[in-house]
Amino acid sequence: MSTESSTPSNFIRQIIESDLASGKHSAVHTRFPPEPNGYLHIGHAKSIVLNFGIAEDYHGQCNLRFDDTNPHKENVEFVEAIKHDVQWLGYQWSELHFASDYFEQLYRFAEELIGKGKAFVCELNAEQMREYRGNLTEPGRNSPYRDRSVEENLDLFRRMRAGEFEDGSKVLRARIDMAAPNLNLRDPVLYRIRHGVVHHQTGAEWCLYPMYDYTHPISDALEGITHSLCTLEFEDHRPLYDWVLDNITIPCHPRQIEFARLNLEYTVVSKRKLTQLVDEGHVEGWDDPRMPTIAGLRRRGYTPAAIRDFCGRIGVTKSDSTTEMSLLETCVREDLDASAPRRMAVLNPLKVVITNYPEGQVEELQGPNHPKDEGMGTRTLKLTREIYIDKADFREEANKKYKRLVSGGEVRLRNAYTIIANEVIKDEAGEIIELRCTYDPATLGVNPEGRKVRGVIHWVSASECIHAEVRLYDRLFTVPSPDADKERDFLSFINPDSLLTLTQAVLEPALADAEPGQPFQFEREGYFCRDEVASTAERPVFNRIVTLRDSWAKVETK
Ligand code: ATP
Ligand code: MG
Repeated sequence: MSTESSTPSNFIRQIIESDLASGKHSAVHTRFPPEPNGYLHIGHAKSIVLNFGIAEDYHGQCNLRFDDTNPHKENVEFVEAIKHDVQWLGYQWSELHFASDYFEQLYRFAEELIGKGKAFVCELNAEQMREYRGNLTEPGRNSPYRDRSVEENLDLFRRMRAGEFEDGSKVLRARIDMAAPNLNLRDPVLYRIRHGVVHHQTGAEWCLYPMYDYTHPISDALEGITHSLCTLEFEDHRPLYDWVLDNITIPCHPRQIEFARLNLEYTVVSKRKLTQLVDEGHVEGWDDPRMPTIAGLRRRGYTPAAIRDFCGRIGVTKSDSTTEMSLLETCVREDLDASAPRRMAVLNPLKVVITNYPEGQVEELQGPNHPKDEGMGTRTLKLTREIYIDKADFREEANKKYKRLVSGGEVRLRNAYTIIANEVIKDEAGEIIELRCTYDPATLGVNPEGRKVRGVIHWVSASECIHAEVRLYDRLFTVPSPDADKERDFLSFINPDSLLTLTQAVLEPALADAEPGQPFQFEREGYFCRDEVASTAERPVFNRIVTLRDSWAKVETK
């Protein structure tokens, strides 16, 4: 595996090291437990890197377990997408499980709880249950069904399984303490009835479904998980996690440890909200390159190494915080700066005719694939009499700070000759539509004598080029925390300009072989890759992965 193990330590790793040192455990066993009700996002990557990274570094194991107890929201598409994303991030699970594999065992443990007087069948409806529950300042009241006999409870529970009762008419509840200060311990629901749903794994076999808080500790214990890592919102559920395992006959008792979830600026990392973006058509789909999903980041051109690096740099703590988007961008920029071959692409083309260049000539020039890595070799560029440069690279007049082409000035065409702009051709509206230049044949790889060249600009041959669409992405939301506003719906903060489509772009011929997702640096423009979904054989589409510099700082230095 290519994942590096230079991960900095954190409080969870310290606990694990001390458990291994004391002999409490001889090997570590973790798990990543997604619910297959959506695609994985960058927050899940944090959990994946943590769980799989620990298993890898301490020579232990990590399972992938689907927490599939809400069949009406889950499906096989999500199961397959999650498996693909975990593997793409560079990890391979030791064992693959579904919580639904344990439905029969879970049911038997529930009978054990009933037999011990630790669970009962309750007939309060949802509203009554809320009312009986009390609140943070007042204790709850016992359900009138709380003192049913074991026999009656067992009989009712078996008939619940057999399908005799309607949805919502009965639930199985733990019998703990209605006065517990922790509301999660006030006789929580363990099982509910759901008829008519076809579970993606168990089909129509069950109409009785266990709750997450009951299923999770038992699934962990059945798999021999040593450290069950979850996000902070489960801290209050830990006493219930422990209660379940303490009250059934099971040899293993994993330790639940909570850590802060990842929040990322200018986006949302909640499956519910991401589902809403997809279902309501605010984005193209789960893999829209603006989405913070693993699928979106992959399509955008992010590399697994950059995402793993990001997860390492944000660290693992117990305090909630929001991470800046620029950190994620820095990680991918650093990775791609070292690895992405350089290419030339003109995004907003302006035609240039080199009037002293022979008509019909196609000159093959070599351009290095990477300025700092000769080992990456060269690619062939084709120079012709008519070329394109970017509109932003020419001004009729400009001061000395403008290191590009001006009327009468001279610049170098990257990897080729110098040119001087002699004549500007405009249309009726006064817009520049063509430049007439001359080149100096003596300047290939050498500076002209006695003249100063302003700068270097990129170019593409007009006849030897690929026409493409280029998509530039901006943040998906206009504010750093779109879901923190209590008054306004997060959707009202969607950035209407998060996608800028350039339809006239031209690319150098070497980009004809670009594989979908393979990253390139378009010199002076940023990092780009061919879009897997939108490209056609005739017309490729390229996504901008990230700009060359931190665009969030809003400094125009180009
Ligand atoms: P969401 O709130 O997006 O629906 P979830 O917690 O319901 O997330 P699960 O599929 O249950 O999604 O999550 C699988 C694992 O990933 C859990 O252990 C969960 O704690 C962890 N996880 C989810 N979101 C984040 C996040 N933003 N940061 C870190 N870990 C996360
Ligand atoms: Mg969850």
